[in-house]
Amino acid sequence: MLEIKDLHKKYDNGPVALQDVNLTVKSGEIISLIGPSGAGKSTLIRCVNRLVEPTKGEILFKGKDITKLNNTELRQMRKKIGMIFQEHALLDRLTVMENLLSSRLGYVGFWKSFRRNFPEKDIKEALRLLDRVGLSDYVNTRADQLSGGQRQRVGIARALLQGADILLIDEPTASLDPKTSREIMRLIVELVKERDITAIINIHEVNLAEMYTQRIVGLREGEIIYDEKAVKLSNESLTLIYGDEDWEVSTMENENSQQQEDPKSNEAPRSNEDPEKRVESMSDQEKANIEGERHRDQEVKS
Ligand code: ADP
Repeated sequence: MLEIKDLHKKYDNGPVALQDVNLTVKSGEIISLIGPSGAGKSTLIRCVNRLVEPTKGEILFKGKDITKLNNTELRQMRKKIGMIFQEHALLDRLTVMENLLSSRLGYVGFWKSFRRNFPEKDIKEALRLLDRVGLSDYVNTRADQLSGGQRQRVGIARALLQGADILLIDEPTASLDPKTSREIMRLIVELVKERDITAIINIHEVNLAEMYTQRIVGLREGEIIYDEKAVKLSNESLTLIYGDEDWEVSTMENENSQQQEDPKSNEAPRSNEDPEKRVESMSDQEKANIEGERHRDQEVKS
């Protein structure tokens, strides 16, 4: 279990990024952090492994207050906290295997790691993980030859090889297409469950948070203002977290629909219509797409 108590972060010469953040994450939970840019999501996950030093507060994990660990203790603790950054956080000139094994540098001696002389056991486990994330054909491929999704898979395998009990995942789908994004989210969820570990995912795509995670925490201006089981967020919740917006239809869709229905129509925009009517007016393809998503989601959750 991870317990964050009264966490506060003020950057030197910068803003207050977090204030009075209280958050308990149970073992095995998969939670999303959502909120507008600048809300403090990255700061929060970076405080957990002290890539960012909190100004005050407690972060309790494995019976210790992370904020109070000395350097040696922190190095030990970080092995249990896997950080998966956006896909570009790989060492481009190294192969997939070398990138993976770099997560073990804390465990092997300096000279051994310098000569890249890794223990057989680590290599075997790395190969097993690469197979699990679908990269067994890319073991000796340089990281700069990989696609965005493949790079993200290396990042996931690297964090797992390290033996992490909790994964802190920063915008895992930031530069991925919608299909690859779903594949990556599904893989994360499967692996977290298989290994019975915990994950906190900073994510921009609300629909992915709803589909793949169990709990959604909304941050705004450094404060947690939403914390609920993951369900489809209501427009009120979206407005609470992100501010006022027409969550239903874009202006373009609005104009198009009005033109199609009746060019002279003075009807209210579709966003104000009864949701059931809007579902009725969807094409079969749109309905099939939504059904497909639900199915995949249920497969993941079951
Ligand atoms: P999010 O991840 O939700 O976009 P961040 O945690 O990156 O939000 O940022 C929260 C606030 O802290 C923002 O106002 C941002 O500009 C500021 N901030 C982030 N990192 C730094 C830094 N290293 N120095 C100063 N201010 C920072």
